[in-house]
Amino acid sequence: MIQTGIAANDRIAAVRHLLGEEDVQAIIVAPSSDLRYLTGAGGHASERPTLLIVPARGETMMLVPRLEAPRLARDETIRLLVWSETDDPYQVLATSVAFPGDGSVAISDQAWAAVLLGLQRSFPTARFVAASPLLRRLRMLKSDDELAALAKAANLADEAFQEVMADRFSGRSERDLASRLASMLQERGLEIGWGPSVSSGPNTASPHHLTGDRVVEEGDAVMLDFGGALDGYQADITRTVHVGPAPADFVRVYEVVRRAQQAGVDAVRPGVAAQDVDSAARSVIEGDGYGEYFTHRTGHGIGLDTHEEPYIVSGNTLELEPGMTFSVEPGVYLPGRFGVRIEDIVAVTDGGVRRLNEAPRELQIVR
Ligand code: ZN
Ligand code: ZN
Ligand code: ZN
Repeated sequence: MIQTGIAANDRIAAVRHLLGEEDVQAIIVAPSSDLRYLTGAGGHASERPTLLIVPARGETMMLVPRLEAPRLARDETIRLLVWSETDDPYQVLATSVAFPGDGSVAISDQAWAAVLLGLQRSFPTARFVAASPLLRRLRMLKSDDELAALAKAANLADEAFQEVMADRFSGRSERDLASRLASMLQERGLEIGWGPSVSSGPNTASPHHLTGDRVVEEGDAVMLDFGGALDGYQADITRTVHVGPAPADFVRVYEVVRRAQQAGVDAVRPGVAAQDVDSAARSVIEGDGYGEYFTHRTGHGIGLDTHEEPYIVSGNTLELEPGMTFSVEPGVYLPGRFGVRIEDIVAVTDGGVRRLNEAPRELQIVR
């Protein structure tokens, strides 16, 4: 059992150890957050396969197209298997590595189907299984460096929220507000891979609204869900603000969500099941009679991916451990009227919980 996050240089050794424990012959990783986690190299998936192969025993290899080889040749601990445009890359791999018998080989969840089909052709007796059950055991527990990057990313997103609140909202479209917020995030060094998602008025009642052309007006709720990556590590925060004075029914729902979010965060500590954080937040909302309007899980893990393990959802009995990081983001969505969500990232610590986002959670009135 791994008790703390693994420093970058030790991750391939750690995954090799897990392969031995689980009796898996090798893990094959395509360009993805998994590859970045294990090697620090990003890269993008394409029709030309690039694959990291970590066998349980023997040397680590990287199958690479010739044109990518110069970029990847720096790491001396990884043997490059270079294939040319006229080669079948999977045959090149099959000449260098064998998976004897019908043992299992783990393949990263984010590999394209074409990669798996190519591997199955070249290794017809191997049994391919998902790599995520292995890798999540490592990736869920953040090292000090990973926690620092996540905290910094969260902090920059908080700053961007403070800046956007000073802006004028009424008269601007959702799209305009989203692009302003994106610039504020980018100016702070965050790399935008998704969003910002901005919804306004009745659109806030749709939890995953696509930012559109609706023009914000006085009396609207505006929901801002945004983030960005720092050194690959993601921020993800939601705040719901009100344009001009908020009516009593909005304030009531806002306060229910705020108490639910606090109750979710307060429930976080080592040894608690992930689903107990969900029920802590949910029971507040149910207690106020809005249970049927909280239509999604309470949260998701975050790291190199914005959504990763652990999921904070009913049925997930996984015990929280120090180093896990995830969102706590309850919401209430009243169809045709408005929605409210408050989302922060938290980290499980030895003693309990640490909030990584500190942007104000009290209702903010904007112009
Ligand atoms: Zn989401
Ligand atoms: Zn979010
Ligand atoms: Zn989220």
